[in-house]
Amino acid sequence: MFRYFGEGQKGDMTFTGGNKAIRDHVADGEDLLLFQKQDRTGLLRFLGEFVCENTTREPAPDRLGKMRSAIVFHLVPVEAIAEAEAAEPYANQAEGGLDLAALRRAAVAAANTGDEEPAEGARRRIYQRSQAVRRYVLARAAGVCECCGEAAPFLRLNGQPYLEPHHIRRVSDGGPDDPRYVAGICPTCHRRIHHGVDGQAVNKRLGEIIRQKEPVQKIGSHGARRLERELV
Ligand SMILES: [Zn+2]
Ligand SMILES: [Zn+2]
Repeated sequence: MFRYFGEGQKGDMTFTGGNKAIRDHVADGEDLLLFQKQDRTGLLRFLGEFVCENTTREPAPDRLGKMRSAIVFHLVPVEAIAEAEAAEPYANQAEGGLDLAALRRAAVAAANTGDEEPAEGARRRIYQRSQAVRRYVLARAAGVCECCGEAAPFLRLNGQPYLEPHHIRRVSDGGPDDPRYVAGICPTCHRRIHHGVDGQAVNKRLGEIIRQKEPVQKIGSHGARRLERELV
């Protein structure tokens, strides 16, 4: 968990500009990448991809040394969310009656991080959004691997075809993401993408396939973008 101070030279910090972009990055379909400047070399070291779990305010001096209300972002690594998901996979399958469009709406539903929301609720919401994206993607796949086009190799205990959600743009397969960048694929294709000699090429082709399947309109205000932030 990282604490990251918001921007703003003077006076109370507000949720505008860069501060708003960080708070809303999940809803806006933006990845949050953190870098840390190395003391000796001044070079930036990549710390990884994070999710803004919640924000709090605390008093801190501004540039002129005057106390003001500063925004603190609480950032968790995407891997931590992936682990929480793995521990509780497909826990809630009660949405049987929902159609694909309804699942998609749930998946892209705004995941705005509320101002000063308790971490508990925020983490729950991030988790729920991740689950909604998975459910939608697996429904979109409809039992057929979105990569190779073969039927899922077996059924789960609950009778659903076994496919795995794969994040096309990410190293880690967890966390909330835009449904345009998550695919439901068979375990063989999944291993091939992550470990195969032609994994990158297969992943690229998969990205094209999903682009064809997904509605064209943009999700969130910007579509997929990356927010890069430097820790100080
Ligand atoms: Zn496959
Ligand atoms: Zn994957």
